[in-house]
Amino acid sequence: MGAGVAGLRAAVELARHGDVLVVTKESVAESNTHYAQGGIAVAMEGQVDVALHLEDTINAGDGIVCRAAAQALVSEGPIRVAELIEWGAAFDSEGGELLRTREGAHSLARILHANGDATGAEISRSLVAFARVHKRIQFAEWTMVTGLVVADGRIIAVDLLDSDNNPNRISARSVLIAAGGAGQVYSDTTNPSVATGDGIALAAQAGAELADMEFYQFHPTALSLPGVPRFLLSEALRGEGAYLRNDRGERFMERYHPMLELAPRDVVARAITREGMGATPGESRLVHLDMRHIRNIDLHHRFPGISAFLAQHGLELSRDLIPVRPAAHYLMGGIKTDLAGRTSLVGLYAAGEAACTGVHGANRLASNSLLEGLVFGARAAQAMLTDNLPLAVADAPLQVPRPLTEHGEQRVEEYIADLQASMWAYAGLLRQESTLRDGLREQEDCAAGLARLAERGRGSRRLAEAQAMSRVAHAILHSALARQESRGAHFRNDFPQRDDERFLNHSVFGREDHVLFEKW
Ligand SMILES: Cc1cc2nc3c(=O)[nH]c(=O)nc-3n(C[C@H](O)[C@H](O)[C@H](O)COP(=O)(O)OP(=O)(O)OC[C@H]3O[C@@H](n4cnc5c(N)ncnc54)[C@H](O)[C@@H]3O)c2cc1C
Repeated sequence: MGAGVAGLRAAVELARHGDVLVVTKESVAESNTHYAQGGIAVAMEGQVDVALHLEDTINAGDGIVCRAAAQALVSEGPIRVAELIEWGAAFDSEGGELLRTREGAHSLARILHANGDATGAEISRSLVAFARVHKRIQFAEWTMVTGLVVADGRIIAVDLLDSDNNPNRISARSVLIAAGGAGQVYSDTTNPSVATGDGIALAAQAGAELADMEFYQFHPTALSLPGVPRFLLSEALRGEGAYLRNDRGERFMERYHPMLELAPRDVVARAITREGMGATPGESRLVHLDMRHIRNIDLHHRFPGISAFLAQHGLELSRDLIPVRPAAHYLMGGIKTDLAGRTSLVGLYAAGEAACTGVHGANRLASNSLLEGLVFGARAAQAMLTDNLPLAVADAPLQVPRPLTEHGEQRVEEYIADLQASMWAYAGLLRQESTLRDGLREQEDCAAGLARLAERGRGSRRLAEAQAMSRVAHAILHSALARQESRGAHFRNDFPQRDDERFLNHSVFGREDHVLFEKW
């Protein structure tokens, strides 16, 4: 499930041994992977570099990175990236040497990039091209996974809905969820419209455990123009020297962190939120990214995609202050897996942004997620092969869904907009018990309304997405309520300190909304 970096990397591994069906909601090019700009972090300079990448990853995760997962990421990363280059991915280079940039909380310049600021598109292009020529890989594009079929505690099949609302049930020896993140749960997000958390919601519905759902990373610098999507302004801009300035023109990061603009993302995002607050509730002040002082880099050449998008709105990096604000960007939590992508359900595996191995802890180090997709996509595929489950035929009848009426579809959109606004207001960068409880009340109303609509007709992609977003929001809110401390991306106004005595652990969200804390 999913044709981003994790799903495609797994498919290539699996196809050496059997038939693979890659199901994706839209075209193969529509994924978070495709929109990744800044690059892929990888330590290709030997053991010292690998050890430093491990330390940076652990430090960014604020105390709860699973060390074994991070070790796998940084030590297998160079092999996976070298393999990707062999398969046709072209990263930017000069005189035969790969170019590297630096991003927030990295101690070295180790981020490879492609076509300046279009790294994800190049990774996606090269993996799709490599997978497409493989006879044993089939693609089902514009097809949505709407259900996981469980028999005797094992996942044995998936239910699909094509773009004409035709249902289908496919038996599978094993199912990999590589369906990405859930940024669409929030009104302000850098994620494309496919990122509605479907995989996480389906896994939870089937009984799989989720972990670390309270940790949503808010990217500090999305473009802030009225009526314009929250286009990402990559951390690489700050890596190349961009400053942040408040509405008085002051560089303010020195008041928040010694690493200034390259401090961990959560620190920068909260600093921007605070600087952007007006004197009265609801009033906001502009915060800007400033590259006007940079003379030694051709910004158009280095950031062609960003420059082109800004030009459409009359802005230029070398001339203008660029208005920015944080936006939901990356889910550190997800379906709980072991280091081989196994979930708590037999036959169900997860990798990439939909999964939680604990590799990012409470905060992901910039550019570690494309690498995560490669490393853990390959690992999950290897576990699927090792477990070698037999094919089982699903005998439960497939229900043919009725489409929703036009009015029903409109109601779904209203529920989605309300949920997104409420999650931004109540479970965004700054949280507290009272607002999280308000958020939970609104989410439960939304879930009830969607359930009523589902009684009338289920053959609606947007209804399935709305239910997925609502389930993911439910898990975020419960997990955020349970973690009564501030750590990494999760900040509680009512518990502003980190509390290692009670919470140096991962949260696990399971049946009946229980949240337990576990050491991994
Ligand atoms: C704007 C932006 C910039 C980023 N920049 C960087 C960066 O520079 N470096 C970095 O490391 N990371 C970056 N990230 C994060 C990174 O891109 C993602 O975390 C990573 O690509 C996720 O890969 P994935 O394979 O897990 O999921 P995705 O790439 O999101 O793929 C998910 C797939 O699942 C499919 N899908 C979802 N639901 C269903 C369903 N119900 N049925 C069928 N298919 C479904 C989708 O269509 C898609 O094909 C960025 C993210 C964004 C949004």
